[in-house]
Amino acid sequence: VWANVTMGPPDAILGVTEAFKKDTDSNKMNLGVGAYRDDAGKPYVLNCVRKAEAKIMKDLLDKEYAGITGVPQFTKGAAILAYGADSAPLNEGRIAITQTISGTGALRIGGEFLARWFPGNKKIFVPTPTWGNHIPIFKDSGLEVNHYKYFDKKTNGLDFEGMVNDIKNAPKGSIILLHACAHNPTGVDPSQAQWDELSKVVKDAGHFAFFDMAYQGFASGSTDKDAYALRKFVKDGHLVALSQSFAKNMGLYGERTGSFSLVTASAEEKARVDSQIKIVVRPMYSNPPVNGARIVATVLDTPELNAEWLKEVKMMADRIITMRTQLKNHLVNDHKSKLNWDHITNQIGMFCFTGLTPEQVEKLKTEHHVYLTKDGRISVAGISSKNVAYLAKAIHEVTK
Ligand code: PMP
Repeated sequence: VWANVTMGPPDAILGVTEAFKKDTDSNKMNLGVGAYRDDAGKPYVLNCVRKAEAKIMKDLLDKEYAGITGVPQFTKGAAILAYGADSAPLNEGRIAITQTISGTGALRIGGEFLARWFPGNKKIFVPTPTWGNHIPIFKDSGLEVNHYKYFDKKTNGLDFEGMVNDIKNAPKGSIILLHACAHNPTGVDPSQAQWDELSKVVKDAGHFAFFDMAYQGFASGSTDKDAYALRKFVKDGHLVALSQSFAKNMGLYGERTGSFSLVTASAEEKARVDSQIKIVVRPMYSNPPVNGARIVATVLDTPELNAEWLKEVKMMADRIITMRTQLKNHLVNDHKSKLNWDHITNQIGMFCFTGLTPEQVEKLKTEHHVYLTKDGRISVAGISSKNVAYLAKAIHEVTK
């Protein structure tokens, strides 16, 4: 039956882990996938999550289905976390929100809803580069994927002028996908002043902003600071779309816990939007899983656990910043690298866009057992105080 099925290429990110697993060298490093590791290189379950799980177990909750839009206590908490407790649209009951299968599911439900109902031109503009999965997610949703300039290879920083020009020149009524914080893969974010300007540019051009917030708390260690762009746009009157993920900031990767929301013009409009979101979700997966949502809701709603969570997010963000500093110091001080490595510490969030070429990435793999994506992206969370010197030496060897 399947003689006509052609072999597809391996996933650009998950394929790196497959190759890593086959390597038997004791020095091997996996810097491909964006999952946090502690300083011993082990996956890390947050203490607040362990405590929330114990509480949920003790409560002997039933296993009934959630509603189509998920666990209400979760979506309420997620909306407050993103938009802020003082958010006008939140307090006026005009944010439609649904629980999703993590951030990927949020983008897919959002893409599908926009393809059906967005009155503009169904063109979505994503940054160059962007998280690789954005492109197939939005294509599968029925949107036309276009690109705006974002990263400047010369400076390893933001090409703000190029970004603004491309957004201005996009056909009126386009959807502009924005990484809310800790841009993946570049680790380069606009400044607050640049976000202020972007809000104006997007509005003046008659576009629609779709925020992807997969790293709230991971950029700065503060969930409020990292929500700056989203909240600024909302304050300026944008009726935004938002995808949220708790994979990274609560370490709930495999629990697949996220949300999709839309700010609408009125409570009455919200009710209509809600009804159509349900019509998108029901034939896809009927309703989302409850466990991750219960964990998040418990952490957000229990003051001691919430306080502990914020400390743990900051701890994870700080460890990543320390690894950036150490990596740069080894390259510059120990190996006297003649190249400029300032971008390692200037970039933020989980990833460092090193500027390594595909050939150098290949050499890192074959000669040093260091695995990363072809675009030169390093998951800084995969570096530890034990292997940072090894990594710096390997990078120096392939770049000197
Ligand atoms: N958006 C971006 C920018 C991401 O980096 C990720 C995770 N790599 C996601 C969305 C979605 O991740 P998940 O589905 O695991 O929440």
